[in-house]
Amino acid sequence: MAPEQSTTEILDRLIGFASVSSDSNLDIVSWIEGYLSQHDIASRRIYDRTGRKASILATIGPADRPGVVLSAHTDVVPVAGQDWSSPPFTATQKDNRIVGRGATDMKGFVASVLAHVPQFRSAASHTPIHIALSYDEEVGCLGAPDLVAAIAAAPVKPALCIVGEPTGLSVGYAHKGKVARRVIVSGRGGHSALPHRAANAVFAAARIVAALEGLAERVARDGKRDAAFDPPYTTIHVGSLHGGTALNFVPDRAVLEFEIRYIPDTDVSALLAETDAAIAAARDKLKAQAPEAGIVVEDMASYPALMTASRSAVVAAAQRLSGSAGNATTVSFGTEAGLYAQAGIPTIVCGPGDIGRAHKADEWIGLDELAASDRMMQRLASQLDKPAEEWIGQ
Ligand SMILES: [Zn+2]
Repeated sequence: MAPEQSTTEILDRLIGFASVSSDSNLDIVSWIEGYLSQHDIASRRIYDRTGRKASILATIGPADRPGVVLSAHTDVVPVAGQDWSSPPFTATQKDNRIVGRGATDMKGFVASVLAHVPQFRSAASHTPIHIALSYDEEVGCLGAPDLVAAIAAAPVKPALCIVGEPTGLSVGYAHKGKVARRVIVSGRGGHSALPHRAANAVFAAARIVAALEGLAERVARDGKRDAAFDPPYTTIHVGSLHGGTALNFVPDRAVLEFEIRYIPDTDVSALLAETDAAIAAARDKLKAQAPEAGIVVEDMASYPALMTASRSAVVAAAQRLSGSAGNATTVSFGTEAGLYAQAGIPTIVCGPGDIGRAHKADEWIGLDELAASDRMMQRLASQLDKPAEEWIGQ
């Protein structure tokens, strides 16, 4: 048996892997596998199509009973263009903080989970722990669907899933869902003196943008509202628009990206039908000018909304574990929790750190925050000698 390692020692190792979403994550995966196997815990990889990335799934304790999923992602956002005061892929300790990419989003939580593997292993006689670590979360939860499917396919469904994204250890029971799409407009180029012989891709893209803005305003005004969210309605946003190369040339290409962030129980397919209709109208007009013109729509990312009942047994159980008294909250950002919930697994979001520090230069997590997360893991370990239905409820 390997010597026990502390949360900060493990976090030090995890930050050392530059597991940026665009790159392979297999280095950090093999390190975690090695760590688990040192503690006699078997794990399996669930690969993406390229074989360059993998999720990890490991079960500690009796797999034939309802357990607790501890869910996290191994990838981090890039550091390019950011002004770091210490090397981003080195865990630097100063002022009772650990600074490094992923410290708060979300390697701190992963480290806290892994540090407690020995305790989970000796305690989990009746409630198993499933450690589920995905890839490509930061680029749209691309790795999680296969991982969630693997967990949901087991004969016994977990009783609780804790997604350890940074909430300051308060229990998040709901978040908005998201759909992100890219629209690629192909027109016909030409000299700007002769625009009647061309088909202006930027004009077409601008028509689509204007339609999306109109839809956004209508949905904000007339759509479903839920005061638990900020803002309390579904939002539609265009995040980028690129087209054209020079003033004296009619642009033959434009690309825009938009997203819809919808409150739970929104009919997002109806909204998408409206965006499709606006795109189809722009396409028809463009094709009337140049038959070879076209508009293609690509899915970039999507995840479902999370809506666990705020007064449910799982929320209460998670609050007991995290030591967060008071009300459960909604979270302003999206997570993999919606996917777990959609698979029928009661799910909440609860992890150490603050999402406000994520994705930024000098991302950090406090030693006190890691200690609070460790206490949560210790409380969790202390429940595992009882069946989940006894301490979580149903
Ligand atoms: Zn995250």
